[in-house]
This record gives sequence, structure tokens and C-alpha cells, in this order.
Amino acid sequence: QTAAALSSLSPAELETFLESQRTAYADLQERGLTLDLTRGKPSVAQLDLSNELLELPRGHKDASGTDVRNYGGLSGIAELRAMFADLLWVEPEQVVAGGNSSLTMMHDCLVQLLLHGAPDSPRPWSQEETVKFVCPVPGYDRHFTMLASYGIEMLTVPMNEDGPDVAAVRELVKDPAVKGMWIVPTYANPSGSTCSQEVASELASMETAAPDFRIFWDNAYAFHHLTEDEAKSADIITLASGSGHPNRPIMFASTSKITFAGSGVAFLAASKANVDWYLGHQQFASIGPDKVNQLRHVQFFGSADGVREHMRKHREILGPKFAAVDSALSSALDGREVATWSKPTGGYFVNLDVLDGTASRVVELAKGAGIALTPAGASFPHGKDPRDRNIRLAPSFPVLAEVETAMAGVATCVLLAAAEKLAGVTG
Ligand code: PMP
Repeated sequence: QTAAALSSLSPAELETFLESQRTAYADLQERGLTLDLTRGKPSVAQLDLSNELLELPRGHKDASGTDVRNYGGLSGIAELRAMFADLLWVEPEQVVAGGNSSLTMMHDCLVQLLLHGAPDSPRPWSQEETVKFVCPVPGYDRHFTMLASYGIEMLTVPMNEDGPDVAAVRELVKDPAVKGMWIVPTYANPSGSTCSQEVASELASMETAAPDFRIFWDNAYAFHHLTEDEAKSADIITLASGSGHPNRPIMFASTSKITFAGSGVAFLAASKANVDWYLGHQQFASIGPDKVNQLRHVQFFGSADGVREHMRKHREILGPKFAAVDSALSSALDGREVATWSKPTGGYFVNLDVLDGTASRVVELAKGAGIALTPAGASFPHGKDPRDRNIRLAPSFPVLAEVETAMAGVATCVLLAAAEKLAGVTG
């Protein structure tokens, strides 16, 4: 039998329910937990999958005979570019294998656009009166804080199951001040949704008032499947060149959540013109990337299939944690009508939407019980969720038993906050 919707309870029943949740919460506090679901970090067991990297590389020459210990090779070593070109469905010359962080590559691109503009820019973006970006929400907090740090205005559109609300995007890009947009196309952070081929095709072909409009296509979770039903990322680069906007997308990816989060390899993929533009500026910032790290990644994976195979091992570790989140939320919240949450088939997050106006209270209650959650609103520009209902859950780092304990605790906090709200009492 499913539990009754909280909104259907009589005032007396609600009062009883509120009391029972206060007791449950007090019990939770008694346990003195210290659990952390704040960030999408790989767990120790996941990092251990790549320990062989610590013994690599064997030798110090790449396939062309270049000594990887020395300077040079700004675009990265050829075998690694070819491997990820295969995975990202582009040509090797469209890929740059860089340093350890794709976020840095995104930031480099943004800064170059601000300082210099792109070849198709009328002027550097910083010389525009205002620069605006389309931001699907909920989205990745670091995308938004990066834009905020440069005073770029953020215009939100809903992130749907099949990607950003394209009709809303199409309206916004009629403004020439709108220069770009973010998207996490596969297993989005935090919604878990994947941009469909149709939506990608519309984004690639839509008319934009800005001639130098850029899509920052952040494919951080392209290979991070949680089930056997593996989502395919839309091939944005081919779609864009096919519709006459070859320079519109710049794709980013990395092995941060494949090998070591702090010592992986990051990739940029785009039209040859965009790659030349990027390297043309990058040459003043670097003599070359860490090719020793790149070579050990080549040896560790062996091939594109080696990467796919490796991702299945991550899936075995992560899958049960995501199942635990769903089962803890379901068993406490089904029927109550106070929360909905995503059931992602990939990526690193569960998106939890609670009763409007209660997300901050849930996070505060959780903190009071020793469960650290990402701050409410973090998935929105300037950290402001207009409905105060969105919470991003990141279950990858704690061990399974901790995920189970933490999520049962979160469910208690969701119920208590909802009961307080419906009863009109503040906690
Ligand atoms: N993009 C997204 C969507 C992410 O979730 C993350 C990591 N949380 C990153 C980029 C960071 O990538 P990297 O480690 O390659 O800088």
C-alpha cells in the first residue's frame, strides 16, 4: 500500500506526521553521521581501476619515435588523438589532447573569445556592450561561475529529457548579444538527460543573430553509462558542418572520470578552423602538454574499445550506488507527492526536486544531521533556484553502505521540510 500524499492529510493527521518526522530526524542526528554527497568525485575503488597507470609508461617514445619527456607537440600525441577521435566521432586532426582538465580548456576558449574573438567575430567579445550566454537549467555550477566571473549575463532555458528547450533557445539567439550556450549533451550534470539527435540538429542549424555563436558542448559524461542501454551522443560537429555552421560547436571531454580525476587527459574537438584558432592562441601559453601522461593513457587503454571496456568496470561500481539512491527515495517518498527525482542511465548525479520552497531547508536539515549536500540552488546561475526546489545528489564517492545511510537520511529531511511547509511552521 502506498503512503498518502501529504497534501491530502487533515490538519490533525499532518500534525501527527510532522511530529513523527521530527522524531525520525532527532534519531538521525543522534547517529552522529559524517557523510558527503556534495561533489561528483570518483570513489577510491574507481581510482584503483587505473592503478596500472602508476607503473606506466613503458619507455618514453610515442609511435612516431618522439621522446615524450621533452617539450613540444602542442596538439597532443597522435595515437591518443586518434583513439579519442574514434570515441568522439571526429577526425584525428579535429582533436587536441591537452592537459589534465577540460574545464581549463573551456576557460581558455572563453578567455580567447573575450580577448581576441574568433575568426568569424566582428570584434573581441569583451568589446561588446554585453555578452550573454544561454544556460540550460539545472546545469553544471562551474559553467555558471565561470561566466559570472567575467560578467557574462546568463539566460536560462529548461533542460528537458531530450536536451535544452530548443524553442526557448531559438528565441534567445535572435539577440546578437547572445554569443554562446553551454550544454552537457550526454547524461547531463545534474539532470542525467541526453540531448537527442533532433535537438542537436536544431541547435546546429538554428539561425543566430551573432555570426560567431559558439556551443560549448561539454561531453564530460559521453562514455559514462550506468546501464547496458548506452546512450549515443549526437554528432554535433558533423551536424553543424552539414548545416553550414562548422565553427559553431566546440566539444570538450576528459578522462577525469575514466582514469584519475586529477591526472587524466582533457580533449577539445572541433572544426579544423576552430582547432587552428585554439592552438594559435595556446602556442603563447604552452610549449606542449604532459606527453608522458598521454603516452601512459595510450598504453593503459590500448584502443578505443579499451576505453569502452574500462567504463564497464566503473559501471559495476557505480550502478549499485545509483540503485541505492532510487530505492531509498522510493521507499520513503513514494505516494507522498513531495519530491520527484531522476533515474539516470549514466553520468554522476541524481537530480532531486522537492516541494517548492523547501530545497534550502532540506540541505540545512541534512547538514544538521551530518550529511553534506551540494548547496540548494547550485545548479542555477548565481546559485539562485527561483523555485528553491532543486537538489543535486552525487552518490559516486561514498561507499555503498554510506550512500544507503545518507539517502535514507535525506529522505527524512525531505519529508520533515515538506511537513513543516504544509503545516505552515518554520523549522
Ligand atoms: N564538465 C562537467 C559537466 C563536469 O561535471 C565536470 C566535473 N565535475 C567537468 C566538466 C570537469 O572536467 P575536468 O576534470 O576535465 O576539468
